[in-house]
Amino acid sequence: MDDCIFCKIANGEIPSSIFYETEDLVAFDDLNPPMPVHCLIVPKAHYANLAADVPGEVFAKLFAAVPVVAHMKGIDESGYRVVINTGKDAGQTVQHLHVHVLGGAPMSERMFKK
Ligand code: AMP
Ligand code: ZN
Repeated sequence: MDDCIFCKIANGEIPSSIFYETEDLVAFDDLNPPMPVHCLIVPKAHYANLAADVPGEVFAKLFAAVPVVAHMKGIDESGYRVVINTGKDAGQTVQHLHVHVLGGAPMSERMFKK
């Protein structure tokens, strides 16, 4: 995708804080973190979101990266939240599938409300 910011980050066209990379994905810090730790795991291949006919193996690799990233960020013991915003009502702003990993402090608010 020519005009996709996460494609550009994944292929090194624009700078980011990538701290973990495999053949299939990258992980980097979110620009605008609401929590002490907020990073994104992004497949190198472009899928608009969770519902865009994503092959199961892509999900398998994304989710397998979560505990690795959590360990690298030092939040594997304390716990973390994993979020995938999908579509308008969820507030998805970047139309390239990505997994948010959030932690580093207690999250008291439940997220299942308006
Ligand atoms: P979402 O709302 O689920 O689509 O999440 C998109 C996330 O990408 C937001 O949390 C943004 O802060 C983050 N973001 C947007 N541009 C960048 C960037 N260049 N580097 C790092 N994070 C970004
Ligand atoms: Zn993309």
